[in-house]
Amino acid sequence: MQSKRAKIIATLGPASEKKEVIIQLIEAGADVFRLNFSHGTHDDHLERIKMINEINDEIGTNICTLQDLQGPKIRIGQMENGEAEIIPGEQLVISTEDVMGTSQKVSTTYKPLATDVVPGDLILVDDGKLQLKVLSSDGKEVTTEVVYGGMLKSRKGINLPNTAISAPSLTEKDREDLEFGLEHGVQWVALSFVRNAKDITELREIIDSKGKQAKIIAKIEKPEAVADIDEIIEATDAIMVARGDLGVEVLMEDVPMIQKRIVSKCNKLGKPVIIATQMLESMIDNPRPTRAEANDVANSILDGADTVMLSAESASGSFPVESVRAMAKCISSVEERASVIFNKFWEDNQSATAKNDMLVKSACQLSKSVGARAIIGMTKSGYTAFSLAKNRPEADIYIFTSDKHLLKTVNLIWGVKGFYYDEHKPIDETFDDVLQVLKNKGLVETGDVYINTASMPLHWQERTNMMKLDVVK
Ligand code: PEP
Repeated sequence: MQSKRAKIIATLGPASEKKEVIIQLIEAGADVFRLNFSHGTHDDHLERIKMINEINDEIGTNICTLQDLQGPKIRIGQMENGEAEIIPGEQLVISTEDVMGTSQKVSTTYKPLATDVVPGDLILVDDGKLQLKVLSSDGKEVTTEVVYGGMLKSRKGINLPNTAISAPSLTEKDREDLEFGLEHGVQWVALSFVRNAKDITELREIIDSKGKQAKIIAKIEKPEAVADIDEIIEATDAIMVARGDLGVEVLMEDVPMIQKRIVSKCNKLGKPVIIATQMLESMIDNPRPTRAEANDVANSILDGADTVMLSAESASGSFPVESVRAMAKCISSVEERASVIFNKFWEDNQSATAKNDMLVKSACQLSKSVGARAIIGMTKSGYTAFSLAKNRPEADIYIFTSDKHLLKTVNLIWGVKGFYYDEHKPIDETFDDVLQVLKNKGLVETGDVYINTASMPLHWQERTNMMKLDVVK
C-alpha cells in the first residue's frame, strides 16, 4: 500500500460491492467508504455496511463508513422510452403532476417547483448540459424556453442556481435514511445541499437525540452555503467541497477559488476538508488518469485538503481499484516532495479550548525541532486527533483510544492512524504499552525520538493535557 498522509474516500456501488474488490480498494489506499443514499435500497447499503465491518475485523483495519444523505435533490421524472430530445428555442413544460416525459412536457419529483420559481429563473438539467429559462408558472406547471437542448433521460438532476428553494434541507427520505444509518453505526453523515448553519444544527439535534456519535460533513454545493461558510464551518465537524453540484449552482470558473478559500478556512480551524467529484473522472472508462486530473488531485493536496474523494470512478467505473491506486500515488508523490504541506502552526485565540490546542501545537513544533518520528495521541473524545492533524506534523500521528467507533471516525482525518487500547493502568505503563504496539508493528525503532501527547487519565475524557518527549529504547 502507498504510504500517504491525506486520506481517500471511495464511493461504493455496483463496480465495488464484492468483498474481494472492497479489500483491493483498501489495499490500494482507500480509508473511507461512502454509501451514496441517492441510489440503492436500505438492503443494498446494509449489505455493504456488514461487509465493511466484516473486513475490518478480518484484516484489522479501521476503515470508516460515510453515509451521504441525498438532501433536497430535485430530479426530472420518468421519460417515455427512457429519453426524449429537447430542442433549443422551443418551449418545454415542467409539470409537478405525474406525467410521462416527452419532448414537450416532463415531470419533476419536486412538487414546490412551480411556486418557487419566477419568470427569468434558470433551470439547469443533467449537470447543466441542458439549460431552460422560466417564462411563466401557473402554480402547477412551469413553462420554459429551451436555451441549450439535447437528449433528456429519466431521473436526471435539476439545479436552480437563482431560485430560493422552499424544501427543507432534511427531507422525509433523509430522515428515514439517517435513522437507518445511525442504527447501523455509520461514523460520518454527509448532508447534501446545506444552505446555512441551522441545517447542521438540526441534523446534530437528531443525531444527539438518538444518543449517537456520528459526526457531520456539510456538503458545500449551493451559493447560499458559500455565502454562509464561516458559520457552517463553525457548526459542522467537516466540510466537503462538492464540486459536482457546486459547479452547476455557481459559475464553473468560480469553483477553483471557492475551493481554495474553503480549504484555507478549514485548515486554520482544524476542520477536516474533503475535495470531491470528477477528480479522476476519465478513469471511469480508462485505466490511467489524464494529466489534468493528476494535477487536480496534487493541487488539492497542496492546498491543504485532508481527504479526496472518488465517486463514479470507484462506484460504477471500469477501474475502481486502479482509480484508488492512482489517487494514492498522486498524493504520495506530492507529500514526498512538497514540504509546504507540513508544519501549519496556525495562530490560536486565547480561549480555554485554545489552551489545549496550544499544547498540541507545541508538541508539533517540538516534533519538528527534534526531528521526531512519531507523535502519539491518547484520546477518548477524538479531540487530540483533530488537533494534531490541524498542525500537519511531519512526524507520523498515532492515536490510541478505547472507543471502537471513534477509531474508525478518525480514519478520515489527515495523517491519523488509530489503534485500540482499553487498559486502565498507571500513566507510565500505558505509555510503555502503546509504544510497544508501535514497535511491534515496525512503526518506530530503537533510537527514534517520539512525543506522547495525551489526555490523561484516559477515562476522564479530558482534552489534551500533557506531553512527553523520549527516545525509543
Ligand atoms: C457533488 O455534487 O459534488 C457531490 C459530491 O454530490 P453527489 O455525488 O451526492 O451528487
